[in-house]
Amino acid sequence: MQRISKLAILLLAFVLVIYYLALNTEGGQDFLLSRGTAAANQPPAPLSDGLHVYVCGSAAPLPAPGRAQACIAVLTPEHYFIVDVGSGSVNNLGLGRLPAERLDGVLLSHFHSDHIADLPTINVIAWASGHEGPLKVYGPPGIGQVVDGFNTALTHDRQYRTEHHGADLLPPASGIMEPVEHPLEATLEFGELTITSFAADHSPVEPAVSYRFDYKGRSVVITGDTVVTDQLRSMVDDADLLVTDALSLPIVDALHTAVSSAGNDRFAKILVDIQDYHAHVADVAELTRSTNVGTTALYHLVPGPRNRLMENIFKREFTDNMVLTHDRMWFELPAGSDEINITD
Ligand SMILES: [Zn+2]
Ligand SMILES: [Zn+2]
Repeated sequence: MQRISKLAILLLAFVLVIYYLALNTEGGQDFLLSRGTAAANQPPAPLSDGLHVYVCGSAAPLPAPGRAQACIAVLTPEHYFIVDVGSGSVNNLGLGRLPAERLDGVLLSHFHSDHIADLPTINVIAWASGHEGPLKVYGPPGIGQVVDGFNTALTHDRQYRTEHHGADLLPPASGIMEPVEHPLEATLEFGELTITSFAADHSPVEPAVSYRFDYKGRSVVITGDTVVTDQLRSMVDDADLLVTDALSLPIVDALHTAVSSAGNDRFAKILVDIQDYHAHVADVAELTRSTNVGTTALYHLVPGPRNRLMENIFKREFTDNMVLTHDRMWFELPAGSDEINITD
């Protein structure tokens, strides 16, 4: 027995020495770095047949550690779209190793800054990754002005990068985004993938839309910013997955009380104003209970929870099929089944 414990201590000491040398000597560091970079740059496994939904941003404008602003990516083996691209979300797309070179388009639900801020970043990443032709940016009326504005702001950037890397690698024409306007109610067909746009109620913000994706019998609805409407109810009634914005009234109320007593009247007013144009968790729970939606996932969290306490308050009214998202979460909806596989 004594011999075994001595051996265990020796083994532990040996592992600690190796660990120390690996992290604190140039040779050890170079070894670990080459192994790590090689592993991280293996081609990703091909996607299984079905809908794949990736949370590239789960937060609203209120600061939240570890959470980017609104962004949801939807992929099939043939197609790749992003709904909204808020600040910090392109970092999550890169960490998730999503294929920027085959991004079919960015869909903008509306033009609040927390949904569009990373548009120039995703455009440059797609361009540098070898995206064929301009990146398409879909959205309701007004999309042209938004995209043209970013294209203008990136004029110098395009010039620098083409001069530095050469026009063969970075053809200037492919670095200019192409706006694609669609009406509030629209059906966009891409092979077996259908994207349906429908009106959201984010009043007084207009236009605002939500998007539904249908592929081989599987479906996901992504709301952007809205309150619960009859149209949303009918669009999610037979959907597998609803990804919806959500506001926690108990947390926003507590914040309002705190900032009011601290004399911050500006923020206090904003905390009141935002309550009428986002779906409250209680309304999302009622929608989930009263429809046949498979799973409801909350994102664009107002405010993004900072700890377990806030997460638990968000979940107070949850039903069994409701999920609080965090950044870099995956939902897999395999074709030909009813399953939804969630990877944290
Ligand atoms: Zn908004
Ligand atoms: Zn928003």
